[in-house]
Amino acid sequence: MTSPIIIAIDGCSSTGKSTFAKAIAKELGYIYIDTGAMYRAVTLLALRNGFVSGDNTIDGEALCRVLSAGGRAADISFRVSGPGGSSETWLGGENVEREIRTIGISRVVSHVAAIPGVRKFVDRTLREIGARKGVVMDGRDIGTAVFPDAELKIFMTARPEVRARRRYEEMHARGYDTSYEEILSNISERDYIDTHRGTAPLSQAPDAVLLDNSDMTVKDQLQWFRELLKRRHLCGF
Ligand code: C5P
Repeated sequence: MTSPIIIAIDGCSSTGKSTFAKAIAKELGYIYIDTGAMYRAVTLLALRNGFVSGDNTIDGEALCRVLSAGGRAADISFRVSGPGGSSETWLGGENVEREIRTIGISRVVSHVAAIPGVRKFVDRTLREIGARKGVVMDGRDIGTAVFPDAELKIFMTARPEVRARRRYEEMHARGYDTSYEEILSNISERDYIDTHRGTAPLSQAPDAVLLDNSDMTVKDQLQWFRELLKRRHLCGF
């Protein structure tokens, strides 16, 4: 096994990034960081403070003031619940994992994530975590902006209807009652905002390897990943 590296996984909404990233982190004994959860937690903070108006206009200045003041209110962290348990997102000492996954947060999050000051806040936290290496991070700009020197970059994609179906099944398995149509429309809207924003828009880094998993199981993807590591002479399973 070579020394620990940073694995950056980027791609559009619901391409199965977190499932894949969690699986490879587990196999490698790396930590997994869901960077979208950070943007979702900041969005919850914005909503709770009344910084979001009806048409999804955000009072970015007020939000960035709260973030840069630091302290408990802006304290976002990940905690693993029990041995082998999944990572849960905490905001200001409260477990917000369930709340940040709702469609209400999904409708606003890309607007919040387009604010440069918010991105600066999240990037700083992510770079602190990544400095220790041995980490798999998934998001939209990990290989392009947060860790442009990451040793391994993967860009994930899948056909839109496959993505919407997966997200629909995932939401229903977790007990959220959201229609397929609403999910498909939210995914398309977020993709548009994420790829068109001024700061760190979603794009494939030139040195990222493309993985289209439309017709692949998680097992297939792990096999693909093992072969990639072998080809690159990187740390192996
Ligand atoms: O990954 P997830 O769908 O939970 O991300 C929610 C939103 O957070 C994305 O639609 C995007 O607007 C934003 N995001 C981002 N950069 C990242 C991760 C997420 O802008 N690295």
